[in-house]
Amino acid sequence: MNTYEIIKKKRDGHPLDPEEIRYLIAGFTSGTIPDYQLSAFLMAVYFQGMNSAECVALTRAMADSGDTVDLSPIEGFKVDKHSTGGVGDTTTLVLAPLVAACGGIVAKMSGRELGHTGGTIDKLESIPGLRTALSENEFRSVANRIGVSILSQTARLAPADKRIYALRNVTATVDSIPLIAGSIMSKKLAAGADGIVLDVKTGSGAFMEKYEDALALARTMVKIGSGAGKKVAALITSMEQPLGYAVGNAVEMREAIDTLNGWGPVDLTELVLALGSDMLHLSGIGSSLAEARGRLEDNLANGRGLAKLSELIEAQGGDADIIHHPGKLPQPREIIEIKSPSSGYVQSIDALNVGLASKVLGAGRQTKEQAVDPAIGILLNKKVGDLVGAGEALARLYSDGNGKKIAAAEEKMIRAYTIGRKPVEPPPLLLTRVSADGVEPLKPKGKSHASPAG
Ligand code: URA
Ligand code: CA
Repeated sequence: MNTYEIIKKKRDGHPLDPEEIRYLIAGFTSGTIPDYQLSAFLMAVYFQGMNSAECVALTRAMADSGDTVDLSPIEGFKVDKHSTGGVGDTTTLVLAPLVAACGGIVAKMSGRELGHTGGTIDKLESIPGLRTALSENEFRSVANRIGVSILSQTARLAPADKRIYALRNVTATVDSIPLIAGSIMSKKLAAGADGIVLDVKTGSGAFMEKYEDALALARTMVKIGSGAGKKVAALITSMEQPLGYAVGNAVEMREAIDTLNGWGPVDLTELVLALGSDMLHLSGIGSSLAEARGRLEDNLANGRGLAKLSELIEAQGGDADIIHHPGKLPQPREIIEIKSPSSGYVQSIDALNVGLASKVLGAGRQTKEQAVDPAIGILLNKKVGDLVGAGEALARLYSDGNGKKIAAAEEKMIRAYTIGRKPVEPPPLLLTRVSADGVEPLKPKGKSHASPAG
């Protein structure tokens, strides 16, 4: 096979054979195909796109470039969940134990912070003692015993994706649907689950800001997963404002505990129920999505979801006492109020700016090696549609007391909030469901200001 001919074939708009795609990815991973040739190939894909068969071949080749996790020693249907990244996206911390409490098996890998979004692993590690760097055996044995385990993603998982992403980042080829879909799904395939529920975010704080792009990405990922023999469903959900009230690590852990106690934020609870219904349904639990949802609601109300979180924390070496005494989670040195400059209704909260504020405050890393300070974060006090008085708190910064960081975060928070006289409805959260059966709009909660299908 000839690299030049393959690049030219794609450049001229002809679909590639799976062997040609495998040859490119394997050659790039082993070092026989140089960066400049792969970069040219990526640009050709950017302009010419890829059909479903090509997307599947690309994703499989990337998934096979490194370690793959063998979940077959765990009995039953293993179901995974992935979010394309949001601000204050506390979902997995609630969803994984709740689904397990309903009989689903959640043996999943999660990541750390990426860009302005947080990572489940950093949030979990705010619990004293909790380990996420489990051996594969430990991971499987915890999942077998209690139905849930969360492992931090290693660099050995889909290394081709890591190297290709680095090239995309410097060759203006990040925003290509086949390349994004391949990148995400290669890691999901390598992680070994039988079923995958995708939460594709759209809006100001999301990777895919435009709804149409989120829909195209969701459809492509569902096709790739189905083509690789997995059961897949995707929900397109709004990231127009942060999810829930907490943005950070320990603060989100606390929010997850509140939610499993049944007194969490309405939007976070709603998203957990929606994603969880699909996870149970794919697992063959519950005869319909509605019945699956009923089981999730039951296990929220009867405390079994919370008890499962406690088991998970204990099984991974953490102090499960934080469930009953969340005050034992890391606490900030100083709490600073962000006061509203005027009175009125919160018109919008730009999720991107809140995510960035949390990072500059210190909830994120400045260098790869740095550890995050788990106590740092932001607690919103007002969400879209809420009435606020002048001087009343919009949000609170959980800080280490560093004045420079506080000033930078304050500036971003003030910019994030728009206050106006006009009463507004909160934006709809759940927009569209995409599965192998097709695309269906989800019933908006509250009045919708835009047609999701439009
Ligand atoms: N997240 C990923 O993992 N890969 C992409 O290409 C984009 C978002
Ligand atoms: Ca949150």
